[in-house]
Amino acid sequence: MKRQRLKLTAFMLAAAILSSCSQNGSSAGGDSISAEPESVSIFAMDTYMTITAFDGDKSSALSAAQQKVQSLEKLWSVTDENSEIYHINHSGGEAVMVSDETAELIDFALDMNTQTGGALDITLYPVLCEWGFTTGDYQVPGEERIKELLEKTGHDKVKLEGKAVTVSEGTSIDLGSVGKGEAGDRMIGELKANGVSSALLDLGGNIQLLGSKPDGSDWKIGLKSPFDTSDNIAKLELSDCCVITSGGYERYFTDDDGNIYWHILDPKTGFPAKSGIISATVIGKSGRLCDALSTSLFVMGEDKAKELWQSRDDFEYVLITDDDRLIMTEGLEGRLTLYDSYSFMKTETVRKG
Ligand code: ADP
Ligand code: MG
Repeated sequence: MKRQRLKLTAFMLAAAILSSCSQNGSSAGGDSISAEPESVSIFAMDTYMTITAFDGDKSSALSAAQQKVQSLEKLWSVTDENSEIYHINHSGGEAVMVSDETAELIDFALDMNTQTGGALDITLYPVLCEWGFTTGDYQVPGEERIKELLEKTGHDKVKLEGKAVTVSEGTSIDLGSVGKGEAGDRMIGELKANGVSSALLDLGGNIQLLGSKPDGSDWKIGLKSPFDTSDNIAKLELSDCCVITSGGYERYFTDDDGNIYWHILDPKTGFPAKSGIISATVIGKSGRLCDALSTSLFVMGEDKAKELWQSRDDFEYVLITDDDRLIMTEGLEGRLTLYDSYSFMKTETVRKG
């Protein structure tokens, strides 16, 4: 079996940001304030992250943000024996008391499971392990084995009472689909507390923007091409929001017959989600919502994605389908530009009315 893991390199991440940090930072304030942006790059939550602050007390802000993501990683790692998630997953069905941060995120994920008709499911961890997505030791499990494992999944196996989390014996949870978005929101909280009003967070392809560029203009964010991850398919011009993508190309393997299996599973089948979508990007104010929804829309497919979007007003999306269509919601009109080399794609706009 051919093994492949497409990890984003720091270079590719940098390429996702079309214009930002390296400019000579036009002044945002009086001349006593240094206009030079400051950045920190870290490896956390299994990905490279770069945080760039353009104003405020940059050094303190960046170190507070770094400490925040590292402390959250300690709580949510599935493999660290001291993490809260590890304790929950090895509790033998007993209640585990967790921090406010963990309780809030589990509560949110349980709610999103309902909102997405079950597309987002944090109990899929044993199934993901069986496929080898957690280790890189990939295999296609037999249908019987998947069926057996699916019996232990489902949000009815997770109980949250205040800060006490109980999962049924044999059930494990993993916050991989929402943790990075939540961490981004909390890092932005730290930046704001240190006087930052303009910052760009690149969290392994998840982009979270605080404010606008120092000169007041929108950031230009590259939308990665699912056909060639070293290339961008379009640019988005946005301020003060998150741009979070889930793509089949992010982590996958191919079997001897050339079938591709990616890391986003359909909770109903335990197999990689085949909805016709190869990349789902969600844009909105809340990082954790965008993170949860990017994974969910990938599973739900275009019709259910549209229905969900029409019923709410807190996000926009861009979907790329396996039949070369780019579907975007109307809130992005005038903000998305498809690059010429992708003009073969058919662009469709989804509307509320
Ligand atoms: P990434 O973290 O790779 O940027 P996502 O936010 O889409 O992308 O999260 C995908 C991760 O979530 C997978 O690696 C896996 O651990 C987990 N996962 C896969 N399918 C689902 C699902 N249907 N619901 C919740 N989590 C999932
Ligand atoms: Mg996600």
